[in-house]
Amino acid sequence: MSTKLLLFDVDGTLIHSGGAGRRAMHRAFEEIYGIEDGFKDISMYGMTDPLILKEALANHGLEWRKQDEERFKRLYITYLTTGIQAPLPQKRIMPGTVELLDAVSHRENLVRGLLTGNWEQGAKIKLGFFKLNHYFELGAFADDSEIREDLVPVAVKRCEETREVELKPEDVYVIGDTPLDILCAQPHGARTIVVATGIHTKEDLLAEKPDHFFPDLTDTAEIMKIFS
Ligand SMILES: [Mg+2]
Repeated sequence: MSTKLLLFDVDGTLIHSGGAGRRAMHRAFEEIYGIEDGFKDISMYGMTDPLILKEALANHGLEWRKQDEERFKRLYITYLTTGIQAPLPQKRIMPGTVELLDAVSHRENLVRGLLTGNWEQGAKIKLGFFKLNHYFELGAFADDSEIREDLVPVAVKRCEETREVELKPEDVYVIGDTPLDILCAQPHGARTIVVATGIHTKEDLLAEKPDHFFPDLTDTAEIMKIFS
């Protein structure tokens, strides 16, 4: 059976951090730039972390500097590490996540990957809180590129190297909860599976013509059929 690469988005797809990510960003931003609520008007959904920072800087008429971004990232990681432990009402694993990852794990030809706008450490802290890190063999993160679309070939290359295979575009699946997850996959010929467990409605998602839509990840059997 041919090798297939599954690339899961994190926030809104596998888990919800309960706003821990957003809070940590706010704290880090305030500490560096002295501005409270720095990300107030910014939609973070589907965006990469560095682009979220750049948008906030632009909104406040501030200049982007590499050293500030590195400091921001360090502070963000520090605050996220503690913040994720806090009791947050919305914090949860999305329904069906564990069952699906278990089912996928039983299939040798399915490679479990991440494709996320999170910095790698951030993704690992969020998933680590829910004990999900062990499921993933590889990933592409905001550290690889701030452009989400560029992350697909990064993940494909990592998979091809570790598994010593050559993947066909249609054997790559991007699984997410936003129109941006669909849009980052399409130029590469990757297939798309979307769920409406984030803020986007079924209509928003279908407008971008995903290959598959599910309300959430609970229908393990139907989702697994896609990879058969
Ligand atoms: Mg998401």
